[in-house]
Amino acid sequence: MSFVQVAVALPVHGSFTYSIPPELELGVGNVVQVDFGRQRVTGYVVGTLDQSDIKRIRPVRRLLDPEPAFDSTQLEFFRWIAGYYLAGLGEVISTALPSQIKARTRRVHVPTQEGIEGLADNSSDTSSRLLVLREVVARPGRTRGGIARALHQEVERDEAGRLLESLVRAGWVAIEERESARSRRIQTVTLQVAPDSIPIEGGVRMRGVLAHLAEAGGQMDLSALVQLEGNGARDAVRRLVAKGLVARGDREDRTASSQTGLEDTRPPPKLNPSQAKAVETIGGLGAEAALLHGVTGSGKTEVYLRAAANILKESKQVLVLVPEIGLTPQLVGRFRGRFGERVAVLHSGLTPAERLREWRRIRAREADVAIGARSALFAPFQELGLIVVDEEHDDSYKQDDGVRYHARDLAVVRSRIAGCPVILGSATPSVETWQNAREERYVRITLPERATPRPLPSVRLIDMRGRKPSSPLSDELVKALQENLADGAQAIVLYNRRGYAPVVECPGCGGTYRCPSCGVGSLVFHQRQRRMLCHYCGFRRDYEDKCGVCDTELEVLGYGTERVEEALQEVLPGARIARMDADTTKGRGAHQRILAAFRNREHQVLVGTQLVAKGHDFPDVRLSAVVGVDHLLAMPDFRSAERTHALVTQLAGRAGRGDVPGSVLIQTRHPDHFVFHHVSSTDSLDAFYEAEVHQRQVLAHPPFSRIVIVRVEGADLERAQDAAGLLARTLRAEADGKMIQVFGPSLAPLSRLVGRWRLQIILRGRDVPEFRRWLHKVTPALQTRPRGQVRMLIDVDARSLL
Ligand code: ADP
Ligand code: ZN
Repeated sequence: MSFVQVAVALPVHGSFTYSIPPELELGVGNVVQVDFGRQRVTGYVVGTLDQSDIKRIRPVRRLLDPEPAFDSTQLEFFRWIAGYYLAGLGEVISTALPSQIKARTRRVHVPTQEGIEGLADNSSDTSSRLLVLREVVARPGRTRGGIARALHQEVERDEAGRLLESLVRAGWVAIEERESARSRRIQTVTLQVAPDSIPIEGGVRMRGVLAHLAEAGGQMDLSALVQLEGNGARDAVRRLVAKGLVARGDREDRTASSQTGLEDTRPPPKLNPSQAKAVETIGGLGAEAALLHGVTGSGKTEVYLRAAANILKESKQVLVLVPEIGLTPQLVGRFRGRFGERVAVLHSGLTPAERLREWRRIRAREADVAIGARSALFAPFQELGLIVVDEEHDDSYKQDDGVRYHARDLAVVRSRIAGCPVILGSATPSVETWQNAREERYVRITLPERATPRPLPSVRLIDMRGRKPSSPLSDELVKALQENLADGAQAIVLYNRRGYAPVVECPGCGGTYRCPSCGVGSLVFHQRQRRMLCHYCGFRRDYEDKCGVCDTELEVLGYGTERVEEALQEVLPGARIARMDADTTKGRGAHQRILAAFRNREHQVLVGTQLVAKGHDFPDVRLSAVVGVDHLLAMPDFRSAERTHALVTQLAGRAGRGDVPGSVLIQTRHPDHFVFHHVSSTDSLDAFYEAEVHQRQVLAHPPFSRIVIVRVEGADLERAQDAAGLLARTLRAEADGKMIQVFGPSLAPLSRLVGRWRLQIILRGRDVPEFRRWLHKVTPALQTRPRGQVRMLIDVDARSLL
């Protein structure tokens, strides 16, 4: 054996032949370094050959790790993924494997204040230089190589490097040394004054740091502040320390063991009859998929635990996927309480070194149960006996860049390869899974009642048509909240948009503030930070009270969670209110702190975005309220009804878990919409799915078809249009006479993001096998990257049509 086939960690298709240098022994799974074009890149050995007729074969440069990183079963899985998602094999493998431990320090790029302002002054500049700047603003903290990779379809690698250097010279981008993954102590910054007595003078950076600290509850890691504010945050912190406003400290890095939820050591309860039946059914499954449909609070987690215990008795391993670890401390705590050290928890807070350690524990079978978000799917299990996908309907299972895989769908594939069952659990299954169960491709297991007998909450709709817009809260809701508080109970309030107000307008000249990089809506006003932010690309500017053009006092319009919090405080004087949204949870462990404080009754009301609706079990919550989800319902996406229904039903399930029945209030301007009429019992859920499935069938939306979105993006609209038009013509010619439709190209609803126009071509096939065959036939066209600073992205089974 003298040659290997290597898949390189770049978005290119196929694998490449290299010769094995005499001093090396190589086999499938080895991670190597190879020359690829003019670059030196990481590659993965995916095959070996005795001979090859290729002429000039280059040798493998070196072996990066003596341990093979994957075995042939995993490789089979990777190949499947590459084929299905029309992605490069090397790209799939590099997505799946934990990133190697990097050098001690990394040089990363962050925008300076001048750089951000520079964007505002050059909003119509479509040059590559500005594109690089926009990338740095949108995702600060990347290395030169990382930025070049992100832009590789549009800007040549060397060119990207040169442009980056010129931006650094101009003072628009700063370079910063990041500590390595291995450092043990983590530096922290703590606010030394009460959040409401923060002085408002001082530089932009200092104010920014104080605002973030106040919003995050008083303490944050220095690295998180640098991530948000750029390198200048360090200097700002130094000056704030001198003024006595903040203090520096450090904390131990115990990410692996802490931050994973408190161990719940309560003895296992006696299963109720439907739970017992569910565990029995799961025990009898072969390599099959099952939908575990249980209303909120029906005891699904207990079913997972018992099923897992049975598998462990057979000396097999269990994988539990959750949408987001930070939001599921209770589930993690229950697994750790039951199985202790045998549980590995893979969460996003792990450093690469820690992730690798957990990975090795799983491979060595020191850990038999792994709980993690979507990437845990790739963990090196030796003998899987069961996969659980909790909250299977959750959209965060879909990866939204690189290889756009869906972890729930891949869990089904992995279970087939491993020959074990997979359980998809939810109170609000996705329409796809529902339909699979209905057509008996999946076994259906139902938990129709709450685990301990108590009624589901009563649901009441509040018609908001014709109400005064001066408050986001209706009189009915205010009354219910006040009564709830007087009874000593807690409440959860949902508003699905963060910030204070989505629009800032000048009543004098009618001017609004827009993002210079994105073409959607306006900048969102955040009062705590005194800033206007773009929620798509990180652009921000300071809020001024007066219009820069005509000096009129500015007006803010509409609502966000911050403003709803303020309105709640007004009608509930003296109540302690916690807010949970992306702004208050950016510090490490912030999710858990907020949830734990609410559980300990330090707050009576929890207000926030959809984060408040997920899976939490709080016995003292008697009232759940939806202040508004109408904008979610109005999204131009065929899944908006499904998403709204799931969100409202999940939120409703938070109420009345204690001994007193709960109630749910939903404010809407669409009280007749069918999503609101089926939110409580399982029977009415059936009615929702019947209605939704019917509609999907009539319109041939998934699951009655499959869709692939090809997105063509470019800073220059005309070039992007030309490239997209050409591609669409090719695809259309190939689709002629088949049950395959090619729509577009047309501008995406989010028509411009991070400086690029976004065009999409939607491919739809009703006959799945035929559509797959066709996709493989047109793959060469899809792999021909367009020229001229245009990039192309392929999203198979796209979840977002925006
Ligand atoms: P789900 O995951 O379906 O929302 P959980 O598993 O969180 O439901 O269960 C809801 C609550 O009921 C939890 O507090 C749990 O401890 C409790 N519970 C679950 N099963 C039982 C049972 N058989 N007997 C008593 N309590 C139970
Ligand atoms: Zn933007």
